[in-house]
Amino acid sequence: MNNGKICVSVCAETADEFIENIKRAEELADIVELRFDYLSKSELETALEKTCNLKSGKKFLLTFRPKEQGGNQPLSKSEREQFWRSRSDFCANWADVELDLVETASQWLFERIICSYHDFDSVPNDLFKIYENLKATNTDVLKIAVQTDEITDTIEIWKLLQKAKSENKQIIPIAMGEAGKWTRILGLAHGAFMTYASLGSGKETAPGQISAEDLIKVYRVKELDENTDIYGILGSNTSYSMSPYIHNAAFKFHKLNSVFIPLQVNNLDEFMRRMVKPATREIELNFKGFAVTIPHKQTIIKHLDFIDEPAKKIGAVNTVKIVDGRLYGCNTDADGFIAPLLNSYGDLKNAKVAILGAGGAARACIYALKQNGAEITIFARDLIKSKSLAEEFQVNLSELSTLNSSLLIFNDFDILVNTTPLGMKGKAEGETPIIAEQMKGLNLVYDLVYTPFQTKLMEEADKAGVPKIGGLAMLIAQATEQQKIWTGKDVPMQEMSRAALKRLQ
Ligand code: NAP
Repeated sequence: MNNGKICVSVCAETADEFIENIKRAEELADIVELRFDYLSKSELETALEKTCNLKSGKKFLLTFRPKEQGGNQPLSKSEREQFWRSRSDFCANWADVELDLVETASQWLFERIICSYHDFDSVPNDLFKIYENLKATNTDVLKIAVQTDEITDTIEIWKLLQKAKSENKQIIPIAMGEAGKWTRILGLAHGAFMTYASLGSGKETAPGQISAEDLIKVYRVKELDENTDIYGILGSNTSYSMSPYIHNAAFKFHKLNSVFIPLQVNNLDEFMRRMVKPATREIELNFKGFAVTIPHKQTIIKHLDFIDEPAKKIGAVNTVKIVDGRLYGCNTDADGFIAPLLNSYGDLKNAKVAILGAGGAARACIYALKQNGAEITIFARDLIKSKSLAEEFQVNLSELSTLNSSLLIFNDFDILVNTTPLGMKGKAEGETPIIAEQMKGLNLVYDLVYTPFQTKLMEEADKAGVPKIGGLAMLIAQATEQQKIWTGKDVPMQEMSRAALKRLQ
């Protein structure tokens, strides 16, 4: 448990929508931030009047920020001064004022003033000087929000939190962007005064803002402390990941002091050096394990102290457990892949399986299928690149040409497994490696893609009348194995599935 607060930001163009949003925010927030700079100018006075008439049990934080400092519209300094001067009706509340107005702000009768600094482009080199300038204003709370694109950009903002704590200064340090999400989740546990949240998806007032519901119900941010065990999904794009929902559901079920967070990492070497390895890391985070995803499953291997036999044979690690600073790697994709397949298909001995794609996930599938006696053919778009994989596992190799795909009929196969990202939410959504007409003779189609829940390939399988398995089954099964490795406890599979389904739907 910590003493931090959750502040839900409310924005709207019209006064009526603004009031509606305030009422929704009150249900989850400790503080409700009123972003008056989002209202159209013609609605501002009505919104102020209606807000004053609300009988709220929650504190309001007033914000009226100009565009150049991260606000929603151009506001001159005199417009802003005028706004603040006439706000005596809100004096029992809090105000967020930018540095250029904070000197005059001391005349206004707010209960608490937050002096804020924003940089929406990068982390400024003189971050600590900015902190000193803000501190010199003697305001109650300092807020510093900076844009981060690489996870290691967040290190300075975290160091700032440590410094403010050692000086007994209240601070709200925010690393904006997907790479900085973890600071919004762990900040309160490490002494941040407050963390900001959105009302929901699409209502964010800053990049990387997490919904209040997720902060409270998924990440349980107020229950975390400095001793909380930290796990995370390590990949180059964590924004679509289901893993935080699945793993946090398991931690919550067992009432563990553990949290699972998104760790968006491009430069794995730097992340390992500056944030993980005991000898070189610059900040202390209580990392206990990682789930590893695209594109780090193979490159992580050189950073590990130990890797188990199946992971070594597969040549990819999707799970890391950290014990006393040592990193142990294993692979739960193979078990996670094969369990739903055995469930629906039964014995795989001599089953003819076509695998589309030859990347990291394909390796785990081939390993598991070989162990179960299946006959495998890889279909890859780049035969030169995939030749070594086929040789390594001694399986057949064929060309996958999606352009001439109608020529390729899979009537010689029992099972088709898609391990390409075709159909996945994002750029490839709505695409499919093959269509219904090519599925003649197949007994099962297994798509590893799990978001969206129903992919185009699965729709094609329905059209062809071929039974199918979606990627969610594998996702849950491999996450179940990860939980066993990390916690050694009975795994609450139902809770984990429910959390994933809720999110997907
Ligand atoms: P990866 O290592 O990047 O491999 C992707 C493979 O697909 C590569 O062989 C790639 O070919 C091929 N590919 C990519 N785009 C293609 C296209 N347009 N046409 C034909 N082939 C294409 O990725 P991964 O880790 O194996 O993951 C692949 C997919 O499986 C992802 O969608 C991932 O989310 C999913 N997955 C799901 C689970 C689960 O639990 N359900 C687990 C692991 C992975 P090139 O090498 O020529 O680029």
